Amino acid sequence: MTAEVSDALLNALKSAQSAAALTGAGISAESGIETFRGENGLWNRFKPEELANVDAFLRNPDLVWAWYAYRKRVIHQSGPNAAHRALVELEALIPDWTTITQNVDDLHRRAGSRNVAELHGNITRNYCYECGARCDDDTLPEENNAPHCSKCGGLVRPDVVWFGELLPADAWEKAEDAARRADVFFSIGTSAVVYPAASLPLIAKRHGAYVVEVNMDATPLTGLADETIIGAAGEILPVIVDKFREMKAGRG
Ligand code: NAD
Ligand code: ZN
Repeated sequence: MTAEVSDALLNALKSAQSAAALTGAGISAESGIETFRGENGLWNRFKPEELANVDAFLRNPDLVWAWYAYRKRVIHQSGPNAAHRALVELEALIPDWTTITQNVDDLHRRAGSRNVAELHGNITRNYCYECGARCDDDTLPEENNAPHCSKCGGLVRPDVVWFGELLPADAWEKAEDAARRADVFFSIGTSAVVYPAASLPLIAKRHGAYVVEVNMDATPLTGLADETIIGAAGEILPVIVDKFREMKAGRG
């Protein structure tokens, strides 16, 4: 499949000093990591909203920990796909680039992205619910039950933002600044309904960015973006990078 890349997008990229991408679970779908709307096999009978919150964790820490342990295994066995790699290339081509992600899977960093704002934390890290101490996986016993902190005995939780929790202030500030500065802003594989992340493309638009959405389906952003490209991120983004490179080299 060859995705059509509009002249408007190519021209916007060519003159962009600053650009950013907001990514959601959809960018990792082609790496085999299910979005929350996908089939979770063994975990089918639970809704993510019922597991990814602090009340669920305090009520049944072992169940929540086991769900994260399962997700960590899936993530560990997978790797970045062509869409993650295309963003690494855009970072090299555009002077000021920020990758803003709602994903917790660490795949942008594993692909080689450098300037990353992780809005929802990172599943590869943990911290103590009581004293806040960081507890990396390699210091914890490898079992499905929720581990306890070696310093204070408190419960250890994954370093992810749960439903009802605030976003890390530094990541949010970085993301908002990037959205304000952006000449081009991508929204990729996100259903654009989880706030405040979903406000970023709108902030970018208000500050003059050309807003491009890449998604398998229409979303609430679709009518507001300058352009929506329907399709798989792993197919579309590499084509955008290729056309942009050609244009930069004077062949486009
Ligand atoms: P979401 O709301 O961002 O929905 C996924 C979106 O991606 C949908 O709009 C879907 O149409 C689109 N999509 C699916 N496959 C795609 C592809 N190949 N190319 C382009 N678009 C594609 O995500 P969610 O699953 O509802 O999750 C809500 C929250 O949980 C978010 O913070 C999300 O990032 C997080 N989450 C993270 C991971 C991860 O770290 N990989 C996995 C599941 C959920
Ligand atoms: Zn502790």
